[in-house]
Parts: sequence; structure tokens; C-alpha cells
Amino acid sequence: MNIILFGPPGAGKGTQAEKLKNHFEIPHLSTGNIFRANIKNETELGKKVKSILDAGDLVPDETVVDIVVDELQKPDYENGYILDGFPRTVPQAEALDKFLESKGTAIDTFLMLVVPEKELVDRILSRADGRSDDSPEKVKRRLDVYRKETEPVLNYYKKKGLVEEVNGVGSVEEIFDRIKNTLQ
Ligand code: ADP
Repeated sequence: MNIILFGPPGAGKGTQAEKLKNHFEIPHLSTGNIFRANIKNETELGKKVKSILDAGDLVPDETVVDIVVDELQKPDYENGYILDGFPRTVPQAEALDKFLESKGTAIDTFLMLVVPEKELVDRILSRADGRSDDSPEKVKRRLDVYRKETEPVLNYYKKKGLVEEVNGVGSVEEIFDRIKNTLQ
């Protein structure tokens, strides 16, 4: 099962992706986690993207696509995966499709976590994991970028008929139950 977990910043993608990973025993590929790990370890990639993440902007499409394509070629991904934070622009979605087609595979489900904007901001500002992009101004910037650059990705997959909307308000377990029901 190849899943895209989609939604605005603060929708709970990371939390639900981890639960899906454990439940279906398939890997969770989070581009945000990859970037944060590289920043922490001060790699070349980390140095290149640090100021971009700090500003709440998007890493260039080519950089992200190269990373994801490299990763998806690994044998670990043969039996399915959960993409979290990717694709985040229409060109990224097109590049992903091109790659998957060349491999004779495809995305099975695009899960959209639906959360009202007010709740998103409250959640991000109250989570205490020390992310440098979680300040009020950065959150506003990330939501603006989401609306402008990322939301069109939803329509791209709607046209393909792959979108399943899941109510992302409730307890972690409630939301996970809804996701499992949707996938059945
Ligand atoms: P959130 O969904 O809360 O914004 P993520 O962990 O998915 O958090 O992403 C954090 C940051 O990493 C983004 O604001 C962006 O700078 C960068 N990033 C992650 N994934 C991508 C992507 N697919 N394309 C461009 N930039 C990305």
C-alpha cells in the first residue's frame, strides 16, 4: 500500500504516519524529518536547507525530489510506504508520478487530514518539541506557503480520484480509527 498523508502544518501527519507505519509495518518517509536530521548532524544538505526551514519556506523541488527518489529505490519500500510532507508542490507530484510510472507502480491512496485553521495554529504553538519554525510568525508563513504552493497538490490528486478526506479533529486514536476505516 503506497500512501500519501497530506494536510496543512499541524494537521497531525507525523503522528498518524508513525501509527500507520507500526500498524502496516511499512516505512514512513518524512521529508521534514530528513531535513531536520541533516540540520542536526550539520551535513552539506543540512547547511543548505537550514535557513529555508527556519524561514518556513520550501526547499527547492529538485533537491527534495532527488532525496525522495533515491530513498524510494531502496528495497525497504518494496511492500509499500507512507509519504509525509511530500509531494508539497505540483511539480513535486508530477516528478513523483513520472518516477513511479517508470517503476511500474503508483500511489494507492491520498489521505487528506482535515483540520480547521484556528486549531492548526493552536496545536503548533502549544507543541513543545522546540522546532525553530514553530514561532507565531513562522507558523503564519508556513500556512501561507501551504495555501499557495501546497493546496493545489490536493486538486492534482482529486483529478486522479485518489483523495480520501479524513476528519483530523479528535483524539489521536479516534483519528487513527477513521484512517484505518478509510483504508479498508
Ligand atoms: P509541517 O508539515 O509542520 O510544516 P514538515 O516536517 O513536513 O512540517 O516540514 C518542515 C519544513 O521542511 C517545511 O516548512 C519545508 O521548509 C521543509 N520541507 C519538508 N518537506 C518539503 C517538501 N516536500 N518540499 C519542500 N520543502 C519541504
